[in-house]
Amino acid sequence: DAVVHWFKMDLRTGDNQALFLASEKAREAGVPLIGLYIVSPQDFEAHLTAPIRVDFMLRSLEVLKADLEALDIPLWIETVDKRARVPERIMELLTEWRAGHIFANMEYEVDELRREAKLVRLYAEKGIAMEVVHDTCVVPPGQLTTGTGRQYAVYSPWFRSWVRHVHENQELLELAERPGMNPPSARERYSSLFECDVPHAPEGKTLSEEEAKVFHALWPAGEHEAMKRLAKFCEDAVGGYGRNRDLPSTPGTSNLSVHFASGTLSARTAVRTARDSNKTKKLDGGNEGIQTWISEVAWRDFYKHVLVHWPYVCMNKPFKPEYSNISWSYDASHFSSWTEGRTGFPIVDAAMRQLRGMGWMHNRCRMIVASFLAKDLLLDWRMGERFFMEHLIDGDFASNNGGWGFAASVGVDPQPYFRIFNPLLQSEKFDPDGEYIRKWVPELKGVVGKAIHDPYGRGEGDRARKAGYPEAIVQHKGAREKALAD
Ligand code: FAD
Repeated sequence: DAVVHWFKMDLRTGDNQALFLASEKAREAGVPLIGLYIVSPQDFEAHLTAPIRVDFMLRSLEVLKADLEALDIPLWIETVDKRARVPERIMELLTEWRAGHIFANMEYEVDELRREAKLVRLYAEKGIAMEVVHDTCVVPPGQLTTGTGRQYAVYSPWFRSWVRHVHENQELLELAERPGMNPPSARERYSSLFECDVPHAPEGKTLSEEEAKVFHALWPAGEHEAMKRLAKFCEDAVGGYGRNRDLPSTPGTSNLSVHFASGTLSARTAVRTARDSNKTKKLDGGNEGIQTWISEVAWRDFYKHVLVHWPYVCMNKPFKPEYSNISWSYDASHFSSWTEGRTGFPIVDAAMRQLRGMGWMHNRCRMIVASFLAKDLLLDWRMGERFFMEHLIDGDFASNNGGWGFAASVGVDPQPYFRIFNPLLQSEKFDPDGEYIRKWVPELKGVVGKAIHDPYGRGEGDRARKAGYPEAIVQHKGAREKALAD
């Protein structure tokens, strides 16, 4: 008597493949469509989901609920305390609603894939059809292989093949339509479902009042905000993206990662909108900024493909088995200096404080601090990976794991182990005037000129000391030699 769409990391009504299919199925059958969202506190724990991210998802759910209600589609939101209970609980709801069909978009992490395979079997036994479809990537995993039929482990040839594939299969950039109105009977039959509220964040995942105030102003949630931000970025900034994207003091990037991560924006919509603001229909032609931005969005696809092909990266293992034996440091004092932004390397400290202050960090700085953790402090990169997940509003397993593997030279397509970011040179190159450092490290506000990059080494030690800024906790040169020797 009803068709259900199970929302997960796809908190939007526009360009949502499974939602579109569910609404088509409901329309053909002349039955109502019901939206379902399960809050699973144990999944938040298992996935190390940051409180700021949970908060963003809950705020996005409010928007989604209102959008669906305008179409007379209820969104039933329920908290299930034990994650192992989720399949049965959904089954009970489907039975109660007499739904014969449930749709969902596929998630590629190992636990989720296994759970979905189990659900499809379980529900089939009860006569309920479950359809799980590709949605989150522009090119679904599995469609790109090398000439010899293997999966690419290196980005550049993979990206050329991604572009070719999209050019040859234009339907990949066709957007799924929004669902239509539910039949009038839906309001009557499922009236109680319209009455549910979006819950508060579970214990351990709440924000303080002060944090909520700051983060809500920084990160307006929901699909409409995503579309606004995308439109504005394509109008104002994408053209200069190639020049500005590496400068953390400039608002040169899109800030859309949070929307991709929560599914308030689809990658198809993003790539298509960017392409349409270009003079050419080619993804690798026309304006350089647009091309570069599309190739960055493609990195997101790349890391999801990697996850599907080498699922053991989900299990705390490095991509290359031979890197399992590296003897990493677990020095607690170094690690806390890093997390608190008190390493004595201004660019590293500014970046770590940006992470805490915004729940987000600029990509260039993510590379700098990750390389610093693994190659200067010689700490286990998995400690950094975990800390990022616990604090990022855009925490995404595949991109985070891929980024850390790249920076620590243990992942697919790593930067070579001998290429070690020099934090001082990175700082001079990408924050030449120290604007970013001064913004996030107020102790160094009074430091003038190039000393901002290395106050103790460049004659501003007294001033830095007085302001309470620490000396460098390691010497880059010594650390570099040790990293290479190890
Ligand atoms: P833009 O520069 O505007 O890029 C547009 C989009 O492209 C991004 O929103 C993102 O979806 C995608 N993208 C860009 N660069 C990358 C990349 N290197 N890898 C994968 N996708 C990319 N990104 C996350 O979304 N979640 C993470 O948890 C995450 N962890 C990272 C950890 C490390 C160590 C590193 C080096 C990178 C990580 N990234 C992660 C990638 C990247 O830093 C962010 O996506 C980017 O900074 C987000 O800002 P933006 O939306 O303004 O990006």
